[in-house]
Amino acid sequence: MTRRPFIYLDANATEPLRPEARAAIVAAWDRVGNPSSIHADGRAARAMVDGARRGLGAMFGVEAGNVVFTSGGTEACALAIHALSRRSPGDEGPGLVLAAATEHDAVLRAQPTPDTVAVLSDGTVDLAALEHALRAAPTALVCVMLANNETGVLNPIPEVAALCHAHGAYLHVDAVQAAGRVFPNVERLGADSLAISAHKFGGPKGIGALLLAGGQTRALAPLVAGGGQEQGRRGGTQPVELIVGMAAAAEAARAQDWTRIAALRDRFEHAAMGAGAVVCGAAAPRLPNTTCLAVPGAAAQTQLIAMDMGGVGVSAGSACSSGKVARSHVLDAMGLDELAGQALRVSLPWSADETQIEHAIETYAAMVARLGRKAA
Ligand code: PLP
Repeated sequence: MTRRPFIYLDANATEPLRPEARAAIVAAWDRVGNPSSIHADGRAARAMVDGARRGLGAMFGVEAGNVVFTSGGTEACALAIHALSRRSPGDEGPGLVLAAATEHDAVLRAQPTPDTVAVLSDGTVDLAALEHALRAAPTALVCVMLANNETGVLNPIPEVAALCHAHGAYLHVDAVQAAGRVFPNVERLGADSLAISAHKFGGPKGIGALLLAGGQTRALAPLVAGGGQEQGRRGGTQPVELIVGMAAAAEAARAQDWTRIAALRDRFEHAAMGAGAVVCGAAAPRLPNTTCLAVPGAAAQTQLIAMDMGGVGVSAGSACSSGKVARSHVLDAMGLDELAGQALRVSLPWSADETQIEHAIETYAAMVARLGRKAA
């Protein structure tokens, strides 16, 4: 019997590379030229970078000059927090930073380290708690993610932005999981900055951007000054290949039929609930590709291994760099108690198809039947 190919349902860790992105990368790789060089080859490289900058700016509703390329989402969030926690680039010290308790470590472990704000049981940020914190202390910057990486839960960013601005704070939005699955418009959201990462929408790893709203055209204090690239906001030779790959992936992601992916996700989710799983964050609006499913009594790591052995790649809460599964701080913050250690994240890639989902459902149902019985 031929073994069926491994089924990849871990898109929130990284999406498969889109063919459009691969083609753009390969074409750029055959060109020489540093975008900072004055000669013809340098100018050609710069034109490629600027074309990508214009395309991404238009897609996300910011001026081309307000797209700052970084090494990915982590650096984009670190740059926003470093720069916007100061009222002006010359400020001596940073002000207070607040972040929702369910933020990614890219935000929670940035400098200055944010104080956390509670979330509601559906996973969205608690607006009353945020308002209370904003009243209690002068705050320079608030960080609230658009979509959570573990649950897919979407935060009400325009409401968050209104609160922040009423209290004189900037708002940084980590849109790393949302961008490419939804296309947030930075100005309409009311964000002052927004982070995106190419590998979460089918582009290459190691490239992302910080998108700045119109009011943020001032010079930002860079994290890496280097040779002054990116208008002095981020030093280092721009990786032309990765940048054009990111722009091509974003174009392709925009043309994607996400209702097809949402229907497949819903099919998986209903089958999982039928098998006894609990959906975490089901009461809130969510990304179309993500579901977070807990099996009462069954440790996440055991479920993960069983799925892997059944030929399906998913992930649990958050995977440490050690490869061990840590208890989810996101589900903890949502008050899910012991379920926080018993949940798997299933995140469908852009390329998911019906046959894969049917096989994955069989594997999941068999896993729950076995582990659920043991746990009972
Ligand atoms: N923010 C969120 C919500 C993420 O899920 C991730 C990656 O998993 C990051 C930031 C970091 O992005 P990158 O891998 O591009 O550094």
